[in-house]
Amino acid sequence: MPFPLSAPGARFNPNRDPRARYGTVELVQALLRAGASVHQRLGGELMVNDLSLQAGGPIPHHGSHQGGRDADVLFYVLDAQGQPRSAVGAPLDPSGRGVDFQDLTVASDDVPVQLDVPRTWAFVEALLSDPGASVQRMFVARHLRQRLLRHARGARVAPAVLRRFEQVACQPGYPHDDHFHVRLFCSLDDLRAGCRDSGPMPPWRRAELAAAGLTPQMAGPERLRAPVTTTEQARRAAGPLHADVRAWLERRETWMRPPRGPGVCR
Ligand SMILES: [Zn+2]
Repeated sequence: MPFPLSAPGARFNPNRDPRARYGTVELVQALLRAGASVHQRLGGELMVNDLSLQAGGPIPHHGSHQGGRDADVLFYVLDAQGQPRSAVGAPLDPSGRGVDFQDLTVASDDVPVQLDVPRTWAFVEALLSDPGASVQRMFVARHLRQRLLRHARGARVAPAVLRRFEQVACQPGYPHDDHFHVRLFCSLDDLRAGCRDSGPMPPWRRAELAAAGLTPQMAGPERLRAPVTTTEQARRAAGPLHADVRAWLERRETWMRPPRGPGVCR
C-alpha cells in the first residue's frame, strides 16, 4: 500500500519521488502509528523518505528497499531556538548538530539544526513497542544511537524497549547520520505466503516464529541491485558547494567508518 503523502503527524517527503512510497501494510501502518503517537504526545511531524516501488524490485539510490519492508525515516530536528523544524535529512555530527544548507552554493541561507532527541526517541519507542511490526534493523550512525540511548536511560523507558533498540540499531557501512533505515521482518502472514527474511535472525525472532509454529526461512544471498551512485558522481551532480559545505563533508569523514565495536553492524 502507498504511504500517504500526508497524514496526522507524518508526511511523505515532498522532495522524494512519490513512486517510492509503497510498503507492506504492516510497515506503512506501523510508521503511521508511530508518527501519530509522537504527534499526540509531543507534537512534531515524522518525515518519511523512500520505501519501495509499487511492484518492488531494484530501486534507484538503494541496495535494499525491494520488498516493501524497508523505509528511510528522517530524524526529528529542532532549529536554533529549540522549535521543531521540518526535517530535510541534514547529516548530524557527534554533538547532534547539523546544518540545513538549502542552496549549496549560498552561505547566507544556511540554518543550523539539531537532533530532536525526545521526539526521535519517542518515535523509536512507539515503533519498537508496536505489536503489529517486528523490527529487524534500524540503521543509524553510532554517535546518534548513543545520544538516543543516553536519553532513554535517563527517561526511565521500559527496559525491554531499550534493550531491543540496543539489539536492532547499528551503524552499517554508510553512516546513516541523516536518517534511520528501518527494516521489518516478514510478517507471519507473509512468511506463510512465501516471504523470506535475510540477514541476522536473533533469538527473540526465532522465539516469535516458534510461538507461531513457523521455522525460519532465509532468502539466498543473490539480489538485484540498482546502480549505486558513487561519492564522486554525487559531488559532480551537486555542482559547486560553498566553503562551509565542503568543510562539513570533510569533517563527516571522521565518523563514516567507525572501528568494530558496540553500535556497529556486524
Ligand atoms: Zn534505506
